[in-house]
Amino acid sequence: MSYQPIVKPPAASMPFGPNLVDYDQARADLGWTDFAAEINGLPGGGLNISYEALDRHLATPIKNKVAIFWEGQDETSETYTFAELARLTDRLAGALRALGVTKGDRVFTYMGRTPELYIALLAVPKAGGIIGPLFAAFGPDAVKDRLLDSQAKVLFTTPTLMKNIRPIIPELPDLKTIVIVNRRGKPYEFGDREKAFDQIMADGSDDFEIEPTDAEDFCIMHYTSGTTGKPKGVVHAHQAVVGHHATARHVLDLHPEDVYWCTADPGWVTGTSYGIFGPLAGGITQVVYEGGFSASRWYKVIDKYRVTAWYTAPTAIRMLMKAGEEVVQKYDLSSLRYMCSVGEPLNPEAIVWGQKAFGLPFHDNWWQTETGCIQIANYPIMDIRPGSMGRPFPGVTAAILNETFERELPPGEEGHLALKPPWPSMFRTYWGRQDLYDSRFVNGWYITGDKARMDEDGYFWFVGRADDVINTAGHLVGPFEVESALVEHPAVAEAGVIGVPDDLAMELVKAFVSLKDGYEPSDQLKKDIRIFAKKKLHALSCPREIEFLPGLPKTRSGKIMRRLLKARELGLPEGDTSTLEE
Ligand code: AMP
Repeated sequence: MSYQPIVKPPAASMPFGPNLVDYDQARADLGWTDFAAEINGLPGGGLNISYEALDRHLATPIKNKVAIFWEGQDETSETYTFAELARLTDRLAGALRALGVTKGDRVFTYMGRTPELYIALLAVPKAGGIIGPLFAAFGPDAVKDRLLDSQAKVLFTTPTLMKNIRPIIPELPDLKTIVIVNRRGKPYEFGDREKAFDQIMADGSDDFEIEPTDAEDFCIMHYTSGTTGKPKGVVHAHQAVVGHHATARHVLDLHPEDVYWCTADPGWVTGTSYGIFGPLAGGITQVVYEGGFSASRWYKVIDKYRVTAWYTAPTAIRMLMKAGEEVVQKYDLSSLRYMCSVGEPLNPEAIVWGQKAFGLPFHDNWWQTETGCIQIANYPIMDIRPGSMGRPFPGVTAAILNETFERELPPGEEGHLALKPPWPSMFRTYWGRQDLYDSRFVNGWYITGDKARMDEDGYFWFVGRADDVINTAGHLVGPFEVESALVEHPAVAEAGVIGVPDDLAMELVKAFVSLKDGYEPSDQLKKDIRIFAKKKLHALSCPREIEFLPGLPKTRSGKIMRRLLKARELGLPEGDTSTLEE
């Protein structure tokens, strides 16, 4: 089925007057130096991402504006102004300094979306540290891998999640302090390296001098999955805020009058670039909702806070579609004026449904943990071609390259999506893996790992991943990480993991497993393996389906042929099997 373009009215007739008035002119006239001019820099020189998000507003009327409306899962709520957040983060940054945090130290968070999480993530860069936000849904081994790899010095977590941390403490010699956020006042017995968040805040002072960081100093780390090896720490520098700010303004179209809501958790790059730094740097009021997905609760949040601009993800949109339009009717969502989506391909049906349900289309955009900010997007003034990711942001050069990355392909041809470096929010390294970082740049291009094509008018269309990485509900899963977790189960001899198509989550993780001698396939064993895997992985990375096979197809050199497992699963041609083991 083909979808008609969604034709936009002229900019002048739009109620809010879009920030990006003329795409072609902006591409011709604007570059990163222009966007960098919208950032202040530290008064004494240098650049600090948290100063740009908070303190620079203190000399303006934004000071007393609401920065965060926090909505708890239990329907309690709290409000923080820019001035209040600046003060609280100064206090915590001072406390971190007193705990020995200095420039470049890694400070991780492993907790849900409570105000303390946001205060911690904004405070750490003020003290010169690097933040590493981890999903609360991670199992203990996933947390251990990341804390070990980054040699994190401080961890913020909660009494409930400490049950996952306590057993791994002996294996984390670099972890000097654990800060316990106990907002619901649970009875809690503090261990040796532990401090209470409330106590260090109470002991702290409002008087704090931000660490004089430089634009190139590191400040954010997110772990992401590749085809091989364990997840790698993608590192960003303070300069990333230039990209966050420019794209929040010109792609998400945030205006001073907006109440904006990004549904992403800071464990995912979208939740930091656009759930913290981008909107705050622009002086925008945003909503943070503690809870997970629920159609009625989400609509209630929009209704209660009169959300105007909304940034979410395709799986969530498909879940809203499934919940139906009757739920939409129960709430007053008339405040909504602009909606965006990222993380996976946004199917045209979802865009059309958005128009029907909310009277507005979702604007798809594309980027990655490595790119740090949106690179390709649909803009308020540009007609939407449903199914397309849109066109490159002004300042971004994107191309489709051939198999050997030597040649740009003409419009219409499928190839590797590549970007021309540098840009401010480009990742600066994979933590401790400079070799791997360097390998992502070929012939003067950054190779994204995605396949795509470009049409005659410069719109980009996503085709798929160029590797075995699985995208389930917008969460990237490296098959190797899952296979490594599975083979640690005493019954598992070998494991091969693939993504299988799913209407809601795009792909689901499926594992093929062969058993060691003495073990028999059974439903109970499947359950057992799944529970085992859950301890080691993010909940979304755990195989939804496990199939027992007597043996797995391997190459002569012993590598499991995931491609073949996938072809057999989907009933597709098996392709070249000449390297298949006899
Ligand atoms: P992450 O680094 O976890 O944010 O994942 C980035 C990957 O998600 C990209 O390389 C794509 O494979 C996928 N992705 C992100 N946004 C889109 C989009 N708008 N359309 C299709 N795929 C997307």
